[in-house]
Amino acid sequence: MGGLSDMLKFAQVNNKIRGFKVSQGDSLGVSISHLQYADDTLVFCDAESEQLKHLRAIFIMFEAISGLHINWGKSFIYPVNEVPQIDLLTNILGGKIGELPSTYLGMPLGAKSKSLSIWNSVVEKCERKLVNWKSQYLSSVGRVTLINSVLDAMPTYMMSLFPMPGKIIQRLDTIRRNFLWQGNGEGVKKFHLVKWDAVISNKKEGGLGIKNLKAHNKSLLLKWLWRLATDDQSLWKDTIFARYGKEGSWTTKEVNTPYGVGLWRTIRNQWPRIWNNSVINMGNGRKTLFWNDTWMGQTPLRQQFPDIYILNQQKMATIVEVRNEQGWNLIFRRFLNDWEVERMTQFYNTLEQAKNLTCEEDKLTWKLEKDGKFKVKSAYKLLDTSTETKELWPWKMIWKGKIPHKVAYFTWLVARHSVLTQDNLMKRGKDLCSRCFFCESETETINHLFLHCKVTEKLWKYFIN
Ligand SMILES: [Zn+2]
Repeated sequence: MGGLSDMLKFAQVNNKIRGFKVSQGDSLGVSISHLQYADDTLVFCDAESEQLKHLRAIFIMFEAISGLHINWGKSFIYPVNEVPQIDLLTNILGGKIGELPSTYLGMPLGAKSKSLSIWNSVVEKCERKLVNWKSQYLSSVGRVTLINSVLDAMPTYMMSLFPMPGKIIQRLDTIRRNFLWQGNGEGVKKFHLVKWDAVISNKKEGGLGIKNLKAHNKSLLLKWLWRLATDDQSLWKDTIFARYGKEGSWTTKEVNTPYGVGLWRTIRNQWPRIWNNSVINMGNGRKTLFWNDTWMGQTPLRQQFPDIYILNQQKMATIVEVRNEQGWNLIFRRFLNDWEVERMTQFYNTLEQAKNLTCEEDKLTWKLEKDGKFKVKSAYKLLDTSTETKELWPWKMIWKGKIPHKVAYFTWLVARHSVLTQDNLMKRGKDLCSRCFFCESETETINHLFLHCKVTEKLWKYFIN
């Protein structure tokens, strides 16, 4: 397959086939003629018969040299926009005519990133799994485990690249919610005992620790920003930078165009989350902007010394550009006035604290992990705002006790005032005359049944003594 790649590159360099160019303004940009994954190849060219003839020749040569065969039954030509005489072009090359949007390697190709239809298969898969499980008897605890392990793991593939539309989150939440509360009790409508917002919060905050899909999705998308900032050079990075332009060393410019693909715009909008939770670990100073990045103190120097910043002439300089072996090499617009000298001294005193440059690259360090590397898990914690509804209670004690899971789960329901005691049933519309079954003298409320009833009280005393 490497041979095919070389032949395609050679054809592109010699202008025999033209891939597509990703660039912004008059920048050099990136030209992409083909992408390969395992034994799959995706070739880009113009809809011109000369280019397709050349491509056909490359394929014939490749088959002859390598002894491998192209499976034309599984090969497609996808016209992008209007392509006149597509039949003629297909006759030259071979394969069938495909239609966009399509699916490639399990991912949607040519679809709008915000369209709901790309999520159909994810929703269907969840629904199917659910039907299978429904026929089995599962405890509440088992259902929580299943929701977390399987139901959440499934959309991860799509969720790691596409922002999940609100409507899809709602649908998946409905599926998960019904599965949790309804279980295998078909036909009978069961009560949803605890608010969904609370269910999907952290166990320490009084929830069941079922994943919050929105936060999970965002934390997976953040990973792309982290990788863009920290990975070694690669084609996807070059492409993104070519398309959107660089802002400093770590990310692209903000995306403001109202048209075109909104995918990167959605991801780029999350950049402050990365930036505000990272610090620069200074190495050779090549990536760090002297004035605009936070590398000395808690804020950028332009905020700490706006008066000096105005006077300086190297506003976009990296650290290595203003520092040499003798020290700082800062150029100012004019000589200082008497009253500015003291402030300048203060500024240079601050710079004195700077570490010496090393030969290592500057690196971003993720503040929320000890090893400084971004993890989806810590990003999730940061983004999981469902915990804002938290109620103060020692929730942790419920789950860390050495008791059977179902007892912990029941305790959780009691602590949330959500077990179906008679007063709760009445609140939900049941017509009852509430009477405690133990003492037969008071109404059955959670506090009465589990704490204050004289029968319960005896039990508590027995255990405590
Ligand atoms: Zn009682």
